[in-house]
Amino acid sequence: FLYREEKTMEILKQRILKDGVVKEGNVLKVDKFLNHQMDVKLFNDIGEEFAKRFAGTGVNKILTIESSGIGIACIAAQHFNNCPVIFAKKTLSKNLDGEMFVTQVKSYTKGVTYDVMVSEKYLGKGDKVLIIDDFLANGCALQGLISIVSNAGGTVEGIGIAIEKGFQSGGRTIRNLGYHLESLAIVDSMDAENGTITFREQ
Ligand code: 5GP
Repeated sequence: FLYREEKTMEILKQRILKDGVVKEGNVLKVDKFLNHQMDVKLFNDIGEEFAKRFAGTGVNKILTIESSGIGIACIAAQHFNNCPVIFAKKTLSKNLDGEMFVTQVKSYTKGVTYDVMVSEKYLGKGDKVLIIDDFLANGCALQGLISIVSNAGGTVEGIGIAIEKGFQSGGRTIRNLGYHLESLAIVDSMDAENGTITFREQ
């Protein structure tokens, strides 16, 4: 007998083992179900699981970053009273016009630093925010999103991640800062040469 949440984590891990491809540079490609083609049923299971783990937090907005967090965040929002989903926009050029919360994020997969921004119209004082993203590596994307929420005067009620690469530093950093971070699958090691992936027992 498996509890429902164990089932969701198990489904995601099995899917990673089946369809994930380990690339050089510690990159896990999951284009078949998450980053290019998207498995909406799986996204729905993930959203439902986040709703359980962040129950009672009073989340009224979900914040993610373009582009791969958007799909998961939108499906998850349906389990948080259809709350609005905001995605931080990435741009290569600086575009400070006083109406945007702006921060810098170094892209793990592209190696480029972006300005990331959210309009002041959509985030503000009193907002209880759940941050959602597909991957957690070194934590740059999350640090950027956290700083946007705090600049806006909101609070980060939780952080939901589909896949954390536990051998990189982001998870430890974010947990040490005291945030309630929930990662549904934590990869403890992976090997590009033979394609093996091992998960942390949770
Ligand atoms: P971080 O900012 O934590 O270093 O990296 C997280 C961001 O980089 C995520 O938004 C995700 O899009 C991307 N990312 C980091 N590592 C991987 C990976 O192994 N596979 C994929 N598909 N994306 C990754």
